[in-house]
Formats: sequence, C-alpha cells, structure tokens
Amino acid sequence: MKIGIFGGTFNPIHYGHLRAAEEIAEKFLDRVIFVPTNITSNKNIDAEAHPQKRLEMAEIAIKGEPKFKVSDIEIQRGGFSYSYDTIIEFKKKYKNDDLYFITGADAFLGLKNWKNAEAILKTIDFIVAGRPKYGFKNLVKLIDFLPDKLKRDAEVDLKERKIVIDEKRAVYFLDTTKLDISSTAIRNNFKNNISNLFLLPNDVINYIIKNKLYESK
Ligand code: NAP
Repeated sequence: MKIGIFGGTFNPIHYGHLRAAEEIAEKFLDRVIFVPTNITSNKNIDAEAHPQKRLEMAEIAIKGEPKFKVSDIEIQRGGFSYSYDTIIEFKKKYKNDDLYFITGADAFLGLKNWKNAEAILKTIDFIVAGRPKYGFKNLVKLIDFLPDKLKRDAEVDLKERKIVIDEKRAVYFLDTTKLDISSTAIRNNFKNNISNLFLLPNDVINYIIKNKLYESK
C-alpha cells in the first residue's frame, strides 16, 4: 500500500489540510495518516491547543473518510516532535508498504533546518503540496532549499514534477487547489468572535466551542 504521513501541528486542522490530503491521495496514495505533533519545535506553543485536543480534532475531521487515519505516535513519544524519529518509527511499523512524507510548501522551504534533514530525504520520498503564495514553476530553484550535501546530485524531472535526490528517493510537487486557509487566522477569528464557518468542518468548530479553545485570555 502507498501511505502518506501528513505531519502538522493541526492547531486546528482545517479544509486546507484536508483538501490537500484528498488531492495528494487521489494522485499518489491509498492512505493518508495525519500525525499531530506533541510539541512543535518551531512554533509558539502558548498558542497551541493541548496535543490531545489537536489529536481529537483531527479524528473528528476525518470521520467517515476511510482512506484517512490519525496517528498519536508523536504524542505517545512525548517531548519535541522530530519528523525523523516519526519516519523511522513508521518505517519499522509499515515494513511492506511504500511510505511518503507530506508537507506544505512553507514547511518544505524550511526542511534543511530540520533534525537529520539529509537522512530524512534519503529515507523517505516527499510529496509537497502547493500553497497560494508558491507555484512550483521553477523546480530547479527549489534545489536550493535542500540540505547542502544533497544539492550537488539532485536533478529535476520536469515531466514527473519531481526532484530526484538519488537512485531511490525523490521529492514530488503537486499544485493542489489553492485554499488560502490558515490555522492562525482561524484561531484569531475564534478570539475575535468572527465566523469560521466553511473554513473547517462544523464538528471541529463545535468541538472548539465546547472545549473553549482559542478564547481570548
Ligand atoms: P501545520 O501548520 O499544522 O500544517 C501542516 C501541514 O499542512 C504543513 O506542511 C502546512 O504547510 C500544510 N498546510 C497548512 N495550511 C495549508 C493549506 N491551506 N493548504 C495546503 N497545505 C496547508 O504544520 P507545521 O506546524 O508547520 O508542521 C509541519 C510538519 O513539519 C510537522 O510534522 C512538523 O513536526 C514538521 N517539522 C519538523 C521539524 C523537525 O523535524 N525538526 C521542524 C519543523 C517542522 P505550510 O508549512 O506550507 O503551511
């Protein structure tokens, strides 16, 4: 089976995430596993809902869609959530499946600063979803965002819209429908009593209201 690991803070999960996952699955995958972080090393954790609550929101959001699953692997592991550790754990668990790591464009542009970035790209294929600000017109330029040691051998395959890392690994780019939805804007809307209807699933909105998440302090 072809399985995509979709890591994120998901604070909260919204239709931008869900639609990107849907389009990526349609083109590449049999299953997408959403993996909410425990502690995200690069974010302001004061603004984050508790990991368990972010996990529950993801579970609510994917209900009824059998190809979508949620994993608590990072929350169970505790501490900072490094994608490298997650990828290694998934590789052990899904020995007979083809695994891919899914990110948005912003996350990909910062990838070379992740823990073990080079090893990550040599371990798993990536699928990068386009975002409103980034078209992937110039794949050659995107090689600059790879860890230094991988740049020299990386090659662009324009036909398949991918950067080939080595004989085994590649980074695929897919321009997904450009839904300019952000978790930060959604949280601000909740704080300021502005409607979030149609930006994320209603059941997630109801969960946020019931659990008093993202209220102004
Ligand atoms: P996030 O804000 O929760 O979003 C999850 C993913 O969905 C991101 O890749 C994001 O892309 C994408 N996304 C958000 N809104 C979207 C929209 N409207 N349309 C399409 N895609 C959208 O993610 P995050 O907190 O940046 O974390 C991303 C992953 O990278 C996590 O698994 C995190 O652990 C990992 N990470 C790992 C390290 C490390 O290992 N050292 C460091 C940093 C991040 P954008 O990034 O483009 O918003």
